[in-house]
Amino acid sequence: SRVYRICLIEGDGIGHEVVPAARHVLEATGLKCEFVEAEAGWETFERRGTSVPEETVEIVKSADATLFGAATSPTKKVEGFFGAIRYLRRRLDLFANVRPAKHHPVKGSTPGTDLVVVRENTEGLYVEQERRYAKGKVAIADRVITYDASYRIVEYALKLARTRRKQLALVHKANVLPLSDGLFLEAAYDAAKHYPDIQVSEVIVDACAMRLVRNPQSFDVLVMENLFGDILSDLTAGLVGGLGIAPSGNIGEQAAIFEPVHGSAPDIAGKGVANPTAAILSAAIMLDYLGEHETARRIEKAVDITLEQGPLTPDLGGKAGTLEFAKAVAAAL
Ligand code: NAD
Ligand code: MN
Repeated sequence: SRVYRICLIEGDGIGHEVVPAARHVLEATGLKCEFVEAEAGWETFERRGTSVPEETVEIVKSADATLFGAATSPTKKVEGFFGAIRYLRRRLDLFANVRPAKHHPVKGSTPGTDLVVVRENTEGLYVEQERRYAKGKVAIADRVITYDASYRIVEYALKLARTRRKQLALVHKANVLPLSDGLFLEAAYDAAKHYPDIQVSEVIVDACAMRLVRNPQSFDVLVMENLFGDILSDLTAGLVGGLGIAPSGNIGEQAAIFEPVHGSAPDIAGKGVANPTAAILSAAIMLDYLGEHETARRIEKAVDITLEQGPLTPDLGGKAGTLEFAKAVAAAL
């Protein structure tokens, strides 16, 4: 069978703990993987003056897929620093941010939830164009919506819906923003013409937030622009057990980076107690991307068995360490 070349970027903080844990599970699947380590993030910036060295970009490009831990961003502005994952998303045109939320047997998870938020990852407010006027008393931020990026992300979501329950919700605010979100919808319906088997509906973003809380089971795939996706995917992570659990993927034509939704968690870093579930589930959706669906499902099942039977990490009320949890998942495979 194929040998997959997997780039591992631990990053900062608990990235150093959860990425090796996910690697342990990947190795236990029996898939043939060649792991290549690369560096990025705050520690890299301190050491080398850049948060993403050029060789990291090259390794990510040459790998079949990349698993990323987390990167720290300082809260104060630091000259020359840029956020590693945002840079990689833009540099490699990783236009689709895919954030599944599926019920897991942990406290606070809503049974029956099985949805995916597909977030446009390249434009919207994330073009980061802000200005101040009127002696600093007025601020304007550009929110860019293009036909092409909207078409591309909706087409991605339609293809994903085709592999699932064939329902796609277009999330928007075109009632207030008919020119910009109206353009998103226009592109969406042009794309949807080619997918007559997918049931497409429209949901206004604020109403969507409420429906997600009250009736998440009514959603399959949701697609939306960048900021809506950023906010609603944290909400959907909260629906199924929170940050320790939520995986994500950043997918483009030439590369893909999978990462837990959580950050570097400096408050618990270095103690070996971080929950590696989000990283392990990110590895599972990475295998989906590589076409290894059966192994991906095996990992998800092993994670649920472990979440049900323990041992659990402290964030879920247990006493297990990061690697101990990962070893239990590997054993459950
Ligand atoms: P965070 O996700 O790092 O932590 C929030 C809280 O959740 C903390 O109490 C933490 O201990 C807990 N937590 C997070 N992941 C956990 C896990 N796997 N197991 C157990 N507990 C976990 O968010 P934050 O505190 O807002 O940010 C910390 C740093 O991470 C900042 O520098 C921020 O910029 C960065 N960050 C990076 C990413 C990314 O790399 N994609 C995402 C979010 C935040
Ligand atoms: Mn976010």
